[in-house]
Formats: sequence, C-alpha cells, structure tokens
Amino acid sequence: MSAKLALLGGPATITQTFKHYNPIGAEEVQAAKEVIESGVLSQFIGAWHPDFLGGPKVKAFEAQCASYFGVKYAITVNSWTSGLIAAVGAIGIQPGDEVIVPPWTMCASATAILHWNAIPVFADIDPATFCLDPKSVEACITPYTKAIMAVDIFGQSADMDALMAIAKRHGLKVISDTAQAPGAMYQGKYAGTLADVGGFSLNYHKHIHTGEGGILVTNDDEIAQRLQLIRNHAEAVVEGMGVTDLTNMVGYNFRLGEIECAMGISQLKKLQNFLDSRQHVAQRLNDKLTGLTGLTTPYVMPDCTHAYYVYPMVLDIEKLGVNRNTLVKALQAEGVTGLGNGYQNVHLLPIFQKKVAYGSNGFPWTSDICHREVSYAKGICPVAEKLHDETYLGFAMCLHDLSDADVDLIAQAFHKVWGQLEQLKTIS
Ligand SMILES: *Cc1c(COP(=O)(O)O)cnc(C)c1O
Repeated sequence: MSAKLALLGGPATITQTFKHYNPIGAEEVQAAKEVIESGVLSQFIGAWHPDFLGGPKVKAFEAQCASYFGVKYAITVNSWTSGLIAAVGAIGIQPGDEVIVPPWTMCASATAILHWNAIPVFADIDPATFCLDPKSVEACITPYTKAIMAVDIFGQSADMDALMAIAKRHGLKVISDTAQAPGAMYQGKYAGTLADVGGFSLNYHKHIHTGEGGILVTNDDEIAQRLQLIRNHAEAVVEGMGVTDLTNMVGYNFRLGEIECAMGISQLKKLQNFLDSRQHVAQRLNDKLTGLTGLTTPYVMPDCTHAYYVYPMVLDIEKLGVNRNTLVKALQAEGVTGLGNGYQNVHLLPIFQKKVAYGSNGFPWTSDICHREVSYAKGICPVAEKLHDETYLGFAMCLHDLSDADVDLIAQAFHKVWGQLEQLKTIS
C-alpha cells in the first residue's frame, strides 16, 4: 500500500457518503396515520381515573415491551431523561443521598440524580468495557450512598453480577441506564432488566426510535406504581389512589403520546433485525481490523452480547508513535465519518466543576443536606479521563446503514493509515 495519505494530499480511500441509518418505514407511517385519523393523540388523564395509565397504544406498547424484555412492568415516558428522573425519584432517594454514577456517559445519567437534590459521586470505569468498574464503585461507597446508576455504555451491559452483589452487601438500589443497549444480552437476560429499575431511550439517535421517548422496565410492584405516579402528576393522584407514602410524589408530565407508542410497537418488532445487522458489521470490522498495531477492537464479556451503538476501540499511543488526533484526522481525510473521542467526562462539566446547579449559590452542595465535601477534580477517574484525552477511538454505528462493501472500505482506510504511520509521525 503505497498510495499517499489523503491528509498529505493523496487520493481519499472513500469518496461516497454512506447510506444514512433510518429505522422508520411504511409500518410506522401507517401506525402513526391510524392514530392521527382517530383524533385521540393522547388519552392520559392526570387524576385517579381509568385513563391515568394512558390510552390504547400506550398500554399495548407497554405490554409488548414487558413481554419482549421479560419484565413485569414496562412504563413509557416522553424521553429517557424523564425516565432517569422518574427512576431516581421512584427508588426513594432523599435530598443529600449519594448516588454512584460513571463519568463516561451522557450528562442526563448524572443530572437525574441532582434533580432530586441528591449528590452524584463519580466512580471510574473499566478500561475494557467502559462501564462502571465494580472496584471503583466499592471505593466510593460512604454511609450516605443509597444507589448505583450503572450505564450500559456503547451497547454492552455493565458487570451486573458484581454491581448487584455490592448493592446487596451495602443495601443500595441499582438503576440501569440502558439507553444505548436495547436488546443486548447479559447471561441470558436483557440488559437493563437486572437492576431494580432500568430502561431505554427512544430518541432519534438510538437503535429504535419514536422521535423522542423512553421505556422504563422493572419487576418491582411498588417502584412501578411510583414511576407511574411521577410520570403523571403524582400530587393530584395519590389521594384518589390511596397512596400514603408521599416520598418524592412531586409529579410531572412525562407522558408519551399515542402516535409515538403506535410507532414504537412497529419499531420493537424490528429491533432484533437492527441488532443482527450491527453485530454483523462489528464482526466484519473485527475480522478486518484485528492485528493492526496498537489498536484494540471491542471487548465483549463472556455470555453477553453487544448492541454496538458505538464500535469502541482503544489505541496504544506509545506503540503507534502517533497521537489520536492525528490518526483521526488521517482517517477522516480518507473519508471515514462517525469517529469520536468518547464521552466528555461528566464530572468535568462546568455544573460540577463550579458546583452550581439550582440557583446560583451552589445548591445542593453548599447546603446542610450535603453530608460531606465531594470531589469532582480532574484525576478522580483516571481511566475515563485518559480514554477521553488520549486513547479512545469510537466509531458511531448509529449514523450509517453499512453494506459489507462499505465496511471493507472503512477497513481499507484504516489499513492505509496504519501502513504509513512513519509519515504521520513527522506531523504528529
Ligand atoms: C440517549 C441517552 C440518554 C438520554 O435519553 P433521551 O431519550 O435523549 O432523553 C441517557 N443516557 C444515555 C447513556 C444515553 O445514551
């Protein structure tokens, strides 16, 4: 391979744009049309009433999700951010309680905790799975810890055996943020269903979507009821319903509409096909990229499957002698799109660095409800920080609908760049 790198003025490996991933088809159009023609776009009522739990499409979609994921309850919400907020409230978190969360995630995993005036505590991630490292979780536990928020990042479940064992030992609840891993398996069970409460996002960028939306899953009767209340104006419902525990019974309108749920029913039917095609793409990438110097292809835990929201790779910069940004620029110049350097490290966002959340005076951290000084300093999560700053390379599988020929071109671009590391060293 002697062609000059595109970054240095040579011809690019990939000259076409890949087909955009679009899971929405004629079935969803028909489903949405039927709802629109019925005129009933949402049937929820925010009072103790037969329609407190929504209309026919909400109920049907929830029943199908419960059956699909093998749980007692599936509860739809208008976004997974809403779902996370409802989950933290439903497990009874009190102001000042500490909840352990990874920094390598979308910010909503952490802000859902803050939402109830509880304190996010960031534990580091495992460098192979990018999910919470159980050892780091254990080290973060204090007398104030009440829950663990596990994030199944990029499409693979966190190490639930280890996390549930820690939770059991310390009397903690566990929430699974499985936004990126719907349909991934963990020891024969669906990711997201092993925690006290978990769930999935239905936003436009995820495997299956309804524009916006989310699905909560739980096997716990009491948590399910509390989720339903928080979703739909709890304070106006508890009396009629006869609910006496008013813990976190400030309600919202987190209701998902009939159109979204009708589309969701069609989307759920297609999920396994989408997973199969991503796993096929990932396998083909593995076959072609394994063996490139200083590049580690995704690690999948034994007895688990990966949903490949992202195809995560790690670089050995010392071995390569070229820094990540230069490699990314070289790959992009060859025509590879969808590359990224992973998560921003949530603890380093201004909200945590400056500790300003509600109002301007540092609430909740400066208030009496906060039991101790919690650090968000750079350095508390060295694995996540190093991955973001230097060694992680992700390929967003959610952007494109890739054919085998497309995958082969992407692999060819990697081989071309890797074949000319010496040239890159001169500009790195
Ligand atoms: C997408 C996502 C969310 C938020 O979901 P929305 O439906 O957009 O609110 C939360 N956590 C993770 C890990 C996500 O990927």
